[in-house]
Amino acid sequence: MFKRLIFILACVSVHVSWAQVPTPKEHFGFAIGDDYHLANYTQTEAYFKKVAQAVPNLVKLQVIGKTEEGRDQIMMIVTSADNHKKLDRYKEISTKMARAEGLSEEQARAMAAEGKAIVWIDGGIHSTEMVATHQLIETLYQVTTRTDAETKRILDNVVILFTHINPDGQELVANWYMREKDPTKRKMETIPRLYHKYIGHDNNRDYFMLNMKESQNVGRQLFVEWIPQIMYNHHQRGPAGSVLAGPPYRDPFNYVFDPMMVTGIDALGAAMYNRLNAEKKPGFTRLNGSSFSTWYNGGLRTTTHFHNMIGLLTEIIGGPTPEEVPLVPSRLIPNNNTPNPVTPQKWHFKQSIDYSVSLNFAVLDYAARNSDHLLYNIYSMGKNSIERGNSDYWTPYPKRIEAINTAYQADQAKTRGARGGGVAAAAADPMGWGSRSAGMPLKFYESVMRDPLLRDPRGYIIPANQADFATATKFVNALIRTGIGVEKATADFTVAGKKYPAGSFIVKTAQAFRPHIIDMFEPQNYPNDFQYPGGPPIRPYDAAGWTLAYQMGVTFDRMLEGFDGPFQRLPYGELQTIPAKVAAGSGGYVLSTKMNDAFLAVNDLQKAGVEVFRITQGSEMGNFYVPASAKAKATLDQVAQSAGLRVTGLSKKPTQAMEKVKLLRVALWDTYGGSMPSGWVRWLMEQYHFPCNVIYSKEIDAGNLKNKYDVIVFVTRAIPVYRGADNDPYAAFRTETKEEEIPSEFHPTMGRITANQSIAPLKAFLEAGGKVVTIGSSTNLAYHLGLPVRSALSELTATGEERELPSGKYYVPGSILRVSVDSSAKASWGLPGQADVYFDNSPVFHLSSEAVAKGQLTPLAWFPNNKPLRSGWAWGEAYLQDGVAAFEAKVGQGKLYAFGPEITFRAQSHGTFKWLFNQLY
Ligand SMILES: [Zn+2]
Repeated sequence: MFKRLIFILACVSVHVSWAQVPTPKEHFGFAIGDDYHLANYTQTEAYFKKVAQAVPNLVKLQVIGKTEEGRDQIMMIVTSADNHKKLDRYKEISTKMARAEGLSEEQARAMAAEGKAIVWIDGGIHSTEMVATHQLIETLYQVTTRTDAETKRILDNVVILFTHINPDGQELVANWYMREKDPTKRKMETIPRLYHKYIGHDNNRDYFMLNMKESQNVGRQLFVEWIPQIMYNHHQRGPAGSVLAGPPYRDPFNYVFDPMMVTGIDALGAAMYNRLNAEKKPGFTRLNGSSFSTWYNGGLRTTTHFHNMIGLLTEIIGGPTPEEVPLVPSRLIPNNNTPNPVTPQKWHFKQSIDYSVSLNFAVLDYAARNSDHLLYNIYSMGKNSIERGNSDYWTPYPKRIEAINTAYQADQAKTRGARGGGVAAAAADPMGWGSRSAGMPLKFYESVMRDPLLRDPRGYIIPANQADFATATKFVNALIRTGIGVEKATADFTVAGKKYPAGSFIVKTAQAFRPHIIDMFEPQNYPNDFQYPGGPPIRPYDAAGWTLAYQMGVTFDRMLEGFDGPFQRLPYGELQTIPAKVAAGSGGYVLSTKMNDAFLAVNDLQKAGVEVFRITQGSEMGNFYVPASAKAKATLDQVAQSAGLRVTGLSKKPTQAMEKVKLLRVALWDTYGGSMPSGWVRWLMEQYHFPCNVIYSKEIDAGNLKNKYDVIVFVTRAIPVYRGADNDPYAAFRTETKEEEIPSEFHPTMGRITANQSIAPLKAFLEAGGKVVTIGSSTNLAYHLGLPVRSALSELTATGEERELPSGKYYVPGSILRVSVDSSAKASWGLPGQADVYFDNSPVFHLSSEAVAKGQLTPLAWFPNNKPLRSGWAWGEAYLQDGVAAFEAKVGQGKLYAFGPEITFRAQSHGTFKWLFNQLY
């Protein structure tokens, strides 16, 4: 009754102090940060709603979309009551400043003064990282209840967007942890499935592609609706012996960035660790104190860097179960990485929550005091980008700098003996630290960095007449979802002597988010990064190269000069569909196998009971033929509408040989705890309407597989390494989850693929006519089956032993490589003769030439030369020459398909999906 009265008073009052925000303890029954206590999402969502109801003048709760499991995903807009009244204007200022289009210097200055800083703070992306989830609750409580001058200044000058990134995962993990009555038994390590329905931890690898609903919801707010100047993304864990790792981050950063984004991170970083030190909170490490860098695009935080936002990441220790800060002596010496080391001690949840709240306030206080600078700076970065896109500009990639050195050295070799002092000094002192006259003659710079052919493009044209325009349109939509301005041709046009049809897409680089555009179309050029000269490579934090246009097999032209045409600028954020085309066909229909969505159509046709055939010879080989019928037409019309499919109508049935398409019974391997690559494929199969069953090792080990399935798919990391008779070399290092600790409903999913138990039933399945598709490291199955193949990535030692190439000689972290493809092979129908594949230290093979001659083994893709790198980093790439990237093998009546590269990588590699799809018919 009393509470209700207070609530009514709060509603009529304009004073913050009247409102009654419940403390977390009142709502949850425990304080945020109490050891052994976690809140689930249902409770958290209810709390968010209570806070929004208690202080509606401060908090506006917005559902930004549904999650993959159907929950509401919430963003809370928090600012002063006055600011809420002008929220639309502040949002408008924020987006206009970020896009920097058509604003004069004067207007920009005026809007910087008028606007409010927009700061994004999120939590919960990785659900076992419970500090990151719970700091969101505690910070919301403190920001809405504290009455000190700092908090007031924050609310007056900042619009905060508190956003929950993964509601489904919090529900799963908190309930799992809290299910044990005895607190000491509570743990998060044994969760039976991924904490995102499909992709678990990879939900932080989806932010340029935006495949998942949560990513789409968040991307919409970040890149289209608000475009905050600062985004702060909370994670765990800090490196051993620290409390947390945070900004600034280690090299390399991406060469497409505006320098002010990088130095903006420095400024915020300083505000964050300075505050912790002032509050006697030691243990912050930065720069080389951790492995985090700003190279990768595609993380929730990292994609913002390509949009001129100051993207902040902290990785903190702690959790509901108390732990120790371990003794790591090297961490105890203060240095620039760790100016204020933490000493070994017991560590409680509450400490991590307090740190996180301090860090949030440090960021918010900075924003409150520098709102005008933040707004002006994002405008400035956007304006720089537009200028670069409107002029000749050369991104300083390491390969360009190397080319300068090479040109210089070639010249040296030619003119040896006639060198000047300055040139000699350049060789002895490449950094120019020792001498004013050090350095090379300017002509070596100009020979590379003023070479017109090496300029960054002014824009890109994506022709509408390419083989799979529907997939190209998905690429365009990924750009649109990340706030890129796209144009569409309203009529046929000609640029640089080449004709393009109406409907083609145009992406110009004279845009604020030019770094993101360049990154999606151009190769990433990762620097040669070693622990010491000649030493082992330093692993990139995530992928080294990912160029999305390559991964998706998009055809596009790079325009090095300014260009124009009958182009219509599409509204920001408006997704594109392409017109459906089903030509009338009394003799039936043909769907080109080059279109990924042809498989979607075929699956829908099969479901509708319509017969589909595949042409097996001639120029139409691989294409689908659908006999004319009312049902066929209706289904094709429907798919064409939704997917933009192009269907050719025939006046009579084709004469080429064809075979009937049969939808196979497909099983997809997964494992207890969930495999992310498996989850991506499960999602992919759903998108293309392939029916599929998930199977676990116990079912495989039980045998009789051919009675239930026709195809089994093993994604990477399913099949163990082959080590002769020794079946599981890692067994000693593994802590198995014990069945008695896990509810019985999950027992069928427990266990793993082993050489002793799993290979024989798989062999029997193959021999009985089954198909097995293996991807990445699961191509190990070829060795388990004793097929006449060996690794192409080995060398003979001085003593004649074969060993894997050492990483100092050969190292290819996540990158894009080009392979040659035999597209006449049935397994490769629809692929081009040259394909870009996603490669992550992937297996490469030599096949026995005898077995190839006999037809037991058939290469499907191989590296035709010594320079296969397209994007990323490939140290020692020449070793790949003549290596086989993919092959098929006859095993009894069945077939094994081995794809070394990641052909379904994070559901981004549309260019190679057909290698999976073809094997499912
Ligand atoms: Zn994380």
